[in-house]
Amino acid sequence: MEVGPGIYRAESNSEVVYALDCGGAHALVDVGGEAGVDEKLGQLEADGVDLDTVVALFITHCHQDHAGAVARLREEKSPRVVAHRLACEQLRYCPAYTPLEDSMVDYTVDQGDTVEIGELSFQVHHMPGHTPDTVAWQLGDGLFAGDILRCDGTIGWMDVHWGSCIGDYRSSLQRLLRLPVKRIYPGHGECGELTRDSVEEGLHRVDTLAQADGSLLTAMGRPAPRRPADVPTKIVRLPTVLPGA
Ligand SMILES: [Zn+2]
Repeated sequence: MEVGPGIYRAESNSEVVYALDCGGAHALVDVGGEAGVDEKLGQLEADGVDLDTVVALFITHCHQDHAGAVARLREEKSPRVVAHRLACEQLRYCPAYTPLEDSMVDYTVDQGDTVEIGELSFQVHHMPGHTPDTVAWQLGDGLFAGDILRCDGTIGWMDVHWGSCIGDYRSSLQRLLRLPVKRIYPGHGECGELTRDSVEEGLHRVDTLAQADGSLLTAMGRPAPRRPADVPTKIVRLPTVLPGA
């Protein structure tokens, strides 16, 4: 289903992926798990997305239900995969949830970077809390948000095993309030307007969790390492043709 100009949404197993028309080529935001990948790709094809023009895959974070089918997609379509620099680090302490290996990621990004492909330009926002490697991809006034927030204010699951951090989550949502973003495209649920109410509901949920059952998360949740001060931001320009084409 086209949910914005050149933005196509597909869903199965409650996982949502997006295909973005970059002008003759397409980028995906997340790919979901292996179990539902064929169904989602089939929906995109039915919407007119030529899967042979999928040249890039942006990962919001390393969980199976967002990145589980990366290896399979790389085998079949060879898109360049872009993820946060901590995405593969996750594998070292949380292999049960993390399908990404170094060899599956072509480019790593961090807070403040820009990724350009064809006619589109994405701002990278590192928004840890749900996981240390969570990236929100801003395209114009839209935000591809993964598990950070749904339209109704629902937040992502928190678990110390995959590095959730209440303090990080709170500051990420507070930054979300200040972003020039009007529309949110989450990794689960419907896309729609990003309202102050929904972000404040998310903050309320984080605070409620911290008060009710957050002692472990508060004690063990460590802030994600931020971009080192001496590392400048960069612009990654992705080609709109596949390797070897
Ligand atoms: Zn997740």
